[in-house]
Amino acid sequence: MIKTPQSYPELADPQLRPRYTGIASFFRAPYVETLAALDIALIGVPFDGGVTNRTGARHGPREVRNQSSLLRKVNGVTNVDPYALARIADIGDAWIERPFALESALDEIAAFFRSVHAAGIVPVSVGGDHSVTLPILRAIAAHRPVGMVHVDAHCDTGDDYLGSRFHHGAPFRRAVEEGLLDPKRVIQIGIRGTTNVPDMWKFSTESGMRVLPMDEFQDKGWRYALDEARRVVGDGPVYVSFDVDGLDPIYAPGTGTPEAGGITMIEALRLVRGLQGLDIIGGDVVEVAPPFDHGSLTAFHAASILFEILCITADAFTRRQ
Ligand code: MN
Ligand code: MN
Repeated sequence: MIKTPQSYPELADPQLRPRYTGIASFFRAPYVETLAALDIALIGVPFDGGVTNRTGARHGPREVRNQSSLLRKVNGVTNVDPYALARIADIGDAWIERPFALESALDEIAAFFRSVHAAGIVPVSVGGDHSVTLPILRAIAAHRPVGMVHVDAHCDTGDDYLGSRFHHGAPFRRAVEEGLLDPKRVIQIGIRGTTNVPDMWKFSTESGMRVLPMDEFQDKGWRYALDEARRVVGDGPVYVSFDVDGLDPIYAPGTGTPEAGGITMIEALRLVRGLQGLDIIGGDVVEVAPPFDHGSLTAFHAASILFEILCITADAFTRRQ
């Protein structure tokens, strides 16, 4: 360290330095490309080869890292200090050696997350498009199907599209088929928008997932959605996947497939925060596409949701000890 703090020794901790300083890791947590002595890993997945419309989410992790430097250490509502509960670091990106081959790219992502999981480390990730959640689940849910709280404008339970079964509109159908998700313990919140055919997401309802459309969310409120989420996923292991297009585009313009009329930021924060106490085994925030963003608003909001996921994940980690 070239600069040693003289007046304020606590500034030896990069997370306590002025937030505009330093190189932006996630939340200014230590950046270590190893798996030693860690409980929770913050991971970027800069891949958008599964996008069906506007690309750009490959740039998501870098900009979310940048915006996440605005956040402080302690949750102002729950008082959870995740860094006091668990050993947390940014372990870098699950970057792809062969990004133009979609299915092998997903295999590369799965291999990265298998290494993390085998080391006993819980992953909290930033995409990337939503296709990246499938290989994450392949790594952490290989031995038993898990539940999921999924916020999104889209159910992402489509099928073959233009010749591929793997894209950001189908990861959760594949995950059910592969035995990674228990559909009866899955809730999808914020669903809305136009579709190409009626009942485009019928796999969700037919497999037993709880689909909570945006109209119902608006009528009954975020607290009802939270109660439903907790009821559906129950006590078992649960993954949290937050697609920023679940937010209203006024909060998240920087995404590839926006849909009008979504969740507000305060609702999103309270919804994720309210999952505290569940057996959270990891989570992600996906579909941040900085080329479409305005003033990095979407990336900042994504970082804020990511922090809530980190807090409930750290809380769950301590409960398992
Ligand atoms: Mn999605
Ligand atoms: Mn979506």
